[in-house]
Amino acid sequence: MTVNRPLFSQSTSPLRNSYGPLRKTILSSMILVPIVIYLLALGIGYFYFMTSLQNSSLASIKRILGDHGQMIDTFLEERKSDLAFITDTYSYTALKDPETLRQILKQLQHKSSAFVDLGIFDNNGVHVNYQGPYDLSGKIYKDEPWFKAVLENGVYISDVFLGFRKIPHFIIAMEKHSPSQTWIIRATIDTYLFNTLVEHVSIGKTGEAYLLNTKGLLQTRRPSSGSLMEEGTLDHRPPEFHQGLKISIQKDRQGNEQLYATTWLKNKLWMLVVKQDKADAFHTLNTATYLIILTTVIGVMIIILVSFYFTARIVRRLETMDSEKEKLRFQLIHASGLAELGEMATGFAHEINNPLQIIKSELALIQMDLAELIEKAGIQPSETQTELTDSLSQIDLQINRCSQITHAILKFGRRSEPETQTLDLNQFIPEIITMVDKRASVQGIDIRLDPDSRLQFIKADPAQLQQVFLNLFNNAIDAITEKHGSAGGMINLSVDSLTKEGVVISITDNGIGISDENIKKVFTPFFTTKPVGKGTGLGLSVCYGIIKNMGGDMAVSSRNGNGTVFKISLPVERSKFQENKSDDAR
Ligand code: ADP
Repeated sequence: MTVNRPLFSQSTSPLRNSYGPLRKTILSSMILVPIVIYLLALGIGYFYFMTSLQNSSLASIKRILGDHGQMIDTFLEERKSDLAFITDTYSYTALKDPETLRQILKQLQHKSSAFVDLGIFDNNGVHVNYQGPYDLSGKIYKDEPWFKAVLENGVYISDVFLGFRKIPHFIIAMEKHSPSQTWIIRATIDTYLFNTLVEHVSIGKTGEAYLLNTKGLLQTRRPSSGSLMEEGTLDHRPPEFHQGLKISIQKDRQGNEQLYATTWLKNKLWMLVVKQDKADAFHTLNTATYLIILTTVIGVMIIILVSFYFTARIVRRLETMDSEKEKLRFQLIHASGLAELGEMATGFAHEINNPLQIIKSELALIQMDLAELIEKAGIQPSETQTELTDSLSQIDLQINRCSQITHAILKFGRRSEPETQTLDLNQFIPEIITMVDKRASVQGIDIRLDPDSRLQFIKADPAQLQQVFLNLFNNAIDAITEKHGSAGGMINLSVDSLTKEGVVISITDNGIGISDENIKKVFTPFFTTKPVGKGTGLGLSVCYGIIKNMGGDMAVSSRNGNGTVFKISLPVERSKFQENKSDDAR
């Protein structure tokens, strides 16, 4: 077991309880700061992401609307071109022939099955030739709105109407001027086919498309609700004309928000409406929102957990640091207590020492006077005389012990600065050994020296260092004698100069050793295991103080019953050491 200066008992720090507010502050700032930044970053990201996602959803619906409108327009344009081709290719006379018109209708239907029938009218509105499923030949259309419109505009595409056949249909009619005659060709378009064409859009689950005329009546079916020619607007107002594409969000009759995209066709004043449930249109947007909310919740939870973990670690670290500080504070208090004790003890020893000296000289006087009296009076040796002489010797002995103690106390209390000087250890140590060698050899103890030839000089106070070595040797001799009696003792002194602590001097003995319990106390003042009158318990504490004052350190290790090692480390005199090395090199 190895100990340096004994540690002082640790007390539980009162600071422990004061970590609550600190923990709260660290925790709240560790949670709040990242969360605010995280939410801010997420919020900004969310805003831009959502805007772009919304824009892309709207752009997609606009594109569908534009493409679809274009397709319907192309369909109407093509049907108009078909009629123009007939009027340009055939004469009025030829077209009045039923067989010719039947052949033409057949060809048209072959090209586009949208054509239901075909009719030729003179400029009085008389249906001069008709090919189709109804019997409309000879009917007069002079007063029909479509007939008037075609005379006025040259070309006409009607709204969906019932007409003579009493079923919803719409027509495309075209006026033709020839030198001899003005006549009109008219085709009925299959509304079922046209409906299919208009309805055919694929947008999400709820997307649908339909046409409205200028009065707001449905020109195609609306799959969700509404038949042909029914009111198709939500607000019962005719739809307003606008250029290009328009997007709006309105609630339908059931109160659900719907996304409406509208455009007016070029070939007919019909408004193409593409409608989709808003939740369906922004489905991706909603999914993204849920994901972002989930990410936010998880992120915030992670921040909170990590903050709790690190706060606990920081506070634990602070607690450890504070408790170490506390320990040091106690050590300081203890050290200053020792210093005060030293001062008190010195004063006390000084005060005791003076009367002791007087008692000692008075005793010497009594002994002298008694001897003189015995001699002059010729008193014969008797038991009383012997008792008297013994008592006086005992008093002398006890006075000597008292003065020994007071001297030790005075040494302990002396706090003078060491007068350090450069010491040649290889010369100094043998001198010390010579001083104790006699006492050691009487006890049968062999002192061996294991010097380090690399080192010659250290920095130390020679008088104090001598005191330290003498004390260590004396303790070693006592311990050896206790174990081996007066034979078989051994003390080994070795020097090691190349350590990071400086020079290390080890004094090893094979004495009684020190128990684990006692080894913690050997440097404590007044600790002794020696019998009353033999030890003061101040030797090692004085030695420790001396070595520390010299900038060195002292440690002890022992295995109970198997000897003890005291290690002293002292700073090396560098300059001399260098000189010495260079001398060696030469
Ligand atoms: P003292 O010698 O007056 O008792 P010290 O402070 O010098 O006071 O020593 C304190 C105690 O340390 C001793 O009483 C002894 O128990 C123990 N001690 C010191 N040196 C040795 C040693 N070399 N071997 C065994 N015990 C020792």
